[in-house]
Amino acid sequence: MATIRPITVYGEPVLHTRAAEVEVIDHSVRELIEDMYVTQDAAHGVGLAAPQVGVGLRIFTWTYPDTGDAPNVGHVINPVLTLLSKPVQADPDPDADAEGCLSVPGLGFPVIRSSHVRLTGQRMDGSPLDFEATGWFARILQHEYDHLNGTLYVNRLEGKWARRWKRSQRSLRMNQPGVTWLPGVDPDPFGHGEDDAHEHDGGDHDHTEGHA
Ligand code: ZN
Repeated sequence: MATIRPITVYGEPVLHTRAAEVEVIDHSVRELIEDMYVTQDAAHGVGLAAPQVGVGLRIFTWTYPDTGDAPNVGHVINPVLTLLSKPVQADPDPDADAEGCLSVPGLGFPVIRSSHVRLTGQRMDGSPLDFEATGWFARILQHEYDHLNGTLYVNRLEGKWARRWKRSQRSLRMNQPGVTWLPGVDPDPFGHGEDDAHEHDGGDHDHTEGHA
């Protein structure tokens, strides 16, 4: 029986440290991945990296409807991500490029990403995984891969978006270790499930295609 795990928040050292390679895919690794799937669902996330549940291992999961040849729900162990197109050097679009992170609760800022990537790695049965991704799925994979290298999307912000993040970070005191939230128990930091009927009403709702 898989268990929903608490999600770590910005300031927790495991989020800001390079995660370690998985040496042996054993029972505890498979259990971790099953727990990450249910945690990701409970948090209404489109992706989740192991450091976000406090485990410094190179594993992440995703769930997204538009994944091309890749499974809609999947995981990867010891991934290698290659950018197949360069990120366009332009001002990020506040709506189209807006990301959110389950470990930076309640906030969203735009960041430029590559539109085309290749992911390789292993599945929990040890079989190899190798596919290309574009669009939002490519963005999700870059966001999760960053997590394994101790980088959060807010660390990639530029200009006014970086300044806005710094102001929010100070006011929310989002720099302390030891803070977590439990999906399905604590209030959802992005308001998922409270406003589904009005998701596209253009109001104060988040504009991202998902948090990861
Ligand atoms: Zn994230």
